[in-house]
Amino acid sequence: MPNRLLSKSKYLNGLQCPRYLWIACNEPERIPQPDAATQHIFDQGHLVGELAKKLFADGIDVPADSFMNNVALTRDLLQQRRPLFEAGMLFGRIYSRLDILNPVNSDEWDIIEVKSAASVKDINLHDVSFQKVCCEQNGLRVRKCFLCHINNQYVRNGEVNPQELFTIQDITGEVAITSEGIQDRIDSMLEVISSPVCPEADIGPHCSNPYDCPLADCWEGTPEQSVFTLYYGGGRAYELYRAGVIDIAGIPDGYVLSGKQDIQRACVISGQPHLDAAALRQFLYSLRYPLHFLDFETIGTAVPLFDGVRPYQNIPFQFSLHVQGAPEVQAKHYWYLADGPQDPRPGLLTRLHQAIGDKGSIVVYNQSFEQGVLRDLGLAFPSYRPWTEAVIGRLVDLIVPFRRFDYYHPLQRGSASLKSVLPAVTGRTYDGLVIADGTEASLRYLSITYGDVSDEERLRTREELLAYCGLDTEGMVQVVRALRTLVGGPSP
Ligand code: SF4
Repeated sequence: MPNRLLSKSKYLNGLQCPRYLWIACNEPERIPQPDAATQHIFDQGHLVGELAKKLFADGIDVPADSFMNNVALTRDLLQQRRPLFEAGMLFGRIYSRLDILNPVNSDEWDIIEVKSAASVKDINLHDVSFQKVCCEQNGLRVRKCFLCHINNQYVRNGEVNPQELFTIQDITGEVAITSEGIQDRIDSMLEVISSPVCPEADIGPHCSNPYDCPLADCWEGTPEQSVFTLYYGGGRAYELYRAGVIDIAGIPDGYVLSGKQDIQRACVISGQPHLDAAALRQFLYSLRYPLHFLDFETIGTAVPLFDGVRPYQNIPFQFSLHVQGAPEVQAKHYWYLADGPQDPRPGLLTRLHQAIGDKGSIVVYNQSFEQGVLRDLGLAFPSYRPWTEAVIGRLVDLIVPFRRFDYYHPLQRGSASLKSVLPAVTGRTYDGLVIADGTEASLRYLSITYGDVSDEERLRTREELLAYCGLDTEGMVQVVRALRTLVGGPSP
């Protein structure tokens, strides 16, 4: 194997798993392209990085087009003792690019890593530790290390103010701790990537920590009803796996599971759903007609798009509402989907206020999300606040009976999400929808609203958004109907 370089991103891969590291270095074509959500995180990071540069007015952008050019230019530019953006540090077989390298005192430097997240994570400390080694091996004296991350208390007011958008946190002490033993780790990773043979690695919690590893083939052969689908399985799932039990049906009698996991196991073995009719009936009796089935789609960006908005605040751009006057009566559909780059909230609020009657339950799935959106709307538009608070008071969370396992079907595979519950309870699926989840809905809306897309694509995407959000509320109508059929008896 050629003497491959260990870059910062590969070092982080290596901390997660040697197999992941080897494949990333030697067979990168096996690593799938980032999905739309991951790409969006990268794009946000790029935008945030550009804003952070404004904190260092006399900084110099080191061209990053070619690797060797970047390294050579960095070497020259270091002499100017000015902040450098994207400086490249190569020493032997280790290489790192730094977001910001800032000169301090007469001969020292500070490392500043920019992140679009709102807090410091362990992985950031490892990231900066590696950068520090690269700098020091190049003879730089590193005084301090900082993480420049998003201040989630910032509220936009006019042009984005980078001084307020960012929090610069001193992580020098934490980086010193994380750096212990780093040279040994680097040496062993260099050995791994030089090996002609890909190392073996077993699946474990590291597969999703700190990020989901994209190499799904390690999980091939995992049965559909595996212990990893146990409800809140966590460490228990890996304990079973390490003991040689991978199928839920194979969990020995007497092995201590939670009550919900016990139900799950029994359902897998019998192939039958579990039903606590009394608990379910009680839930259904708590519903008051007319039922309003409500769902929001939102966007939440690191850099707030509108005045009065915080980083990552959920801004609703779409709702779907099915209103059912009585059991067995066809539900009427109302919806709103913002059009254009302006703040979507005023138009959405007006329409929602018209559509929601003043009586009856408002049924949502996973209440904390809708509640948070409504509360933020009331705060941003105070004239609506009494109304939004009244709406919050009428919310009923349809996830509750599924989280309590009043009903559980093996097809749910340990999940209480609507995406799992709807097919299990009604046979209806999300198959065939172009937009399949809330994250994708959000990204597609951002793309047609602020991106450069044709009218044709814009119209098509709007139809896809309407279909997706509409199915969420129509699905809830069907789930309630199916639950009523299951418990029998008088109509709740
Ligand atoms: S899926 Fe897990 S075991 Fe496989 S390469 Fe990724 S981290 Fe390693």
